[in-house]
Amino acid sequence: MTEPRGFLVGGEWRTSTEILEVRFPYTGETVGRVCLAGSKDVEDALRSAESDFSLTRRLPAHRRSEILYALAGLIRERSEELIGTIVLEAGKTRALAENEVLRAKATIEVSAEEARRIDGTILPLDWNAAGEGRVGCLRRFPLGPVLAITPFNFPLNLACHKLGPAIAAGDSVILKPASATPISALMLGEMALEAGFPAEAISVVPCRPDVAERMVRDGRIACVSFTGSPAVGWHLREIAGRKRVGLELGGNAAVIVHSDGDIPFAVGRIVAGGFSNAGQTCISVQRVYLHRPIYDEALALLVDRVRALTVGDPREPGTDVGPMISESAARAAFAKVQEAVEGGAGVLAGGTRNGPFVMPTVLLDTTAEMRVNRTEVFAPVVTVTPYDTFEEAIALANDSEYGLQAGIFTHDARRIAQAFAELRVGGLVANDVSTFRMDHAPYCGVRGSGIGREGPKYAIEEMTEERMMVFSP
Ligand code: NAD
Repeated sequence: MTEPRGFLVGGEWRTSTEILEVRFPYTGETVGRVCLAGSKDVEDALRSAESDFSLTRRLPAHRRSEILYALAGLIRERSEELIGTIVLEAGKTRALAENEVLRAKATIEVSAEEARRIDGTILPLDWNAAGEGRVGCLRRFPLGPVLAITPFNFPLNLACHKLGPAIAAGDSVILKPASATPISALMLGEMALEAGFPAEAISVVPCRPDVAERMVRDGRIACVSFTGSPAVGWHLREIAGRKRVGLELGGNAAVIVHSDGDIPFAVGRIVAGGFSNAGQTCISVQRVYLHRPIYDEALALLVDRVRALTVGDPREPGTDVGPMISESAARAAFAKVQEAVEGGAGVLAGGTRNGPFVMPTVLLDTTAEMRVNRTEVFAPVVTVTPYDTFEEAIALANDSEYGLQAGIFTHDARRIAQAFAELRVGGLVANDVSTFRMDHAPYCGVRGSGIGREGPKYAIEEMTEERMMVFSP
């Protein structure tokens, strides 16, 4: 048995006797062992993050940028190892893991560029006689220690979306990765140290939820940046006290296909957006609304494409859909499918489960109240519903407590403008699916899907505070 991997506390590698087995979701076999940080370790991480914030906040912009470019270089150098790790810990197909590593490098490079661009404003104060001769000088300063908590589905890139902006902002950082996928995050910690980030200012601490909650409550943390499920995220916001909290949560993304859109293209994109990563993406296509005139044609195309997907070993190059993160996650998602079928839904593809695999599933005749529509399924499951008018499609898409991203296929600019104005989402993708995301762009959920924004430029705003100095010459 291999030695368990240690965790990082203020730049120092530590071990413990509490061991986490990291399992390959496809076979269930152990592919790594990781020591879990305990209460004393996170106390030390908090102390280090607080005292060494004094080091990071004095780092000049060019130095922070150089550290991030060095980190991006190390991600490139170790990309093969990172890809292999992501396939094994997350059960992703190799193509998806390759894409994630490329994106992670890009996220860090964008952070490196943004580190040099943190700017301010000069505000003339001669609004009336009292301010004559004075100017306000507005400038962003690092906020303080950032606690980053990340999910399993993009274990490396989502950690980069927090670590990159935190370093760019000049904050110290404690990263708490998901228990299913801690290895790529520990490698990221290793690389951040090698890249020259002040050692005492970085910790990567896989730990139990109760230990993580201790950090969320702790007054030394200035900002909690959380990506994960709505239930956990909103709970953490309640216990976080006065600190700043950013939540990037889940959703049940809708895609509308109107009859004047490119139907074959839309169907191809729905298959990619609904089923890749076994549907475990926060902006996975979950609810598809088809305009009645093209309903039969689009549905038949969709069902053909979904039935043709190859499900299996994520290490095999021909696999389209791998396992879900665990058998229990597949069981929970599949219960929602069964419930829908018992309630009268029809199954046009899939509709079965085998261990951690939910077969790519297309459901019709579902109702808005069913959990396959109302909640986040986070599995390769798509519901299809016809609509008659565009207004009806917008109302159906908006019938959700979530609002992350939505997609709409139409070549009518007026409909696109109407959807942009009326859909209650953080991002609308015209003529592509909800799953489209560029890592430098702003990304956020509204309503139940979160608060605050990611994308390095925007995350830096969340991780800094703007102060004003009144300058009187
Ligand atoms: P999760 O909420 O179970 O876990 C997320 C992280 O929180 C993990 O590190 C986990 O260990 C930790 N955690 C769990 N309970 C905790 C507690 N009580 N205190 C402190 N930390 C705790 O989510 P998951 O299953 O890892 O990820 C899937 C979810 O993440 C989905 O809902 C998905 O939509 C969402 N997600 C959102 C985005 C986004 O950017 N909006 C991106 C990816 C995933």
